[in-house]
Amino acid sequence: MIHARSEPVLALQGLTDGALCAEVPALSPAQARAIIAAIHRDRPLAPRPGLSRAALDAALRHGALPELAVLAHQASTRDPFEKLLFATADGHRIETVLMPLERAGRVSVCVSSQAGCGLACAFCATGDLGLARNLASWEIIEQVRVARRRLGPGRRVHGVVFQGMGEPLANLDRVSAAIAVLTAPYALAVDARAITVSTAGLPDGIRRLAELAPRVRLAVSIGSPREEVRAELMPVSRAHPLRDVLAAAGDHARATGLAPLWAVTLLAGINDSRADADLLATFARDFAAATGIAPRLSILDYNQVPGARFRRSPALAAFRDQLSAAGVRSHHRYSGGADIAAACGQLAGCEGEGWGKRARSARRSWGSTHPEPEDN
Ligand code: SF4
Repeated sequence: MIHARSEPVLALQGLTDGALCAEVPALSPAQARAIIAAIHRDRPLAPRPGLSRAALDAALRHGALPELAVLAHQASTRDPFEKLLFATADGHRIETVLMPLERAGRVSVCVSSQAGCGLACAFCATGDLGLARNLASWEIIEQVRVARRRLGPGRRVHGVVFQGMGEPLANLDRVSAAIAVLTAPYALAVDARAITVSTAGLPDGIRRLAELAPRVRLAVSIGSPREEVRAELMPVSRAHPLRDVLAAAGDHARATGLAPLWAVTLLAGINDSRADADLLATFARDFAAATGIAPRLSILDYNQVPGARFRRSPALAAFRDQLSAAGVRSHHRYSGGADIAAACGQLAGCEGEGWGKRARSARRSWGSTHPEPEDN
């Protein structure tokens, strides 16, 4: 059930210039952009040339800058990953992960798009929580703003990945509104190609994403190329089989020209056999033949969750070799912050100590550390 929440009338940090003008007709587009730029550059909202006191007053009469409460900030002792734990105004806990990229100083922020998640993937701690509610656009953007303030000199937000808590395509209107602010040059100015939206596999949402945000990248959690195994791991697969998901991903690739990322977390004895690798390679070759665009395969180690029924596969290298022998390139993605429950599959809205108690089974698919996007 989606609960009602207390929310300000208008959260200014969640708006583009057009949206702010629509809400406050007294503002010109230039004034709206000046106000939004001041907000996202953390400048005082004060009059200056091109921005009158009257314009500011009009905006502030209608809106405000609500905040998420920061409950905890943890830094991994194993790697440079960090995690932020927030509370929403109505008491939900959400998490955000700061992930270093390969190039020094660049950080990608992994944001949550929902409080909890309703898709119940068997390998994901978030899925164990159930869905509390969709996050508002400003709550998504605020995660990036707070993360940015945590970065010291020489580090900056380069990218944003929708791979935290929640299924972003189940909250696509707000996610796409957040993307508009993230990418606006007068707002957070993140390159759209450094933004990735990950899905467990909602075909309609994948096609809408191509319409609403055609420059952002798509990642699909494969789970298993075998339909019956995937349905066990990811209940959403019973409504949306992998073939339908990949057909939608093909439409997305054709519409955007962008290669999708296919993420597979290897689980010992479940999806890590040579036959699994061969089937995955067949799907990847078929996809490339149908679209002219090869998917980028990301193979991840499973991150153990206390009480989980899954184990990390010892066969990751052999799996990748098998893909390679079948003519399909792959990337081994490192997912960091496991000691602070920040790695893939571990986000459960807590600081880590009690997190194992919540987890009934092993969790979540796609990874945290990202190679920087390739041109396609
Ligand atoms: S993996 Fe993603 S879609 Fe699946 S339960 Fe976890 S948060 Fe939801």
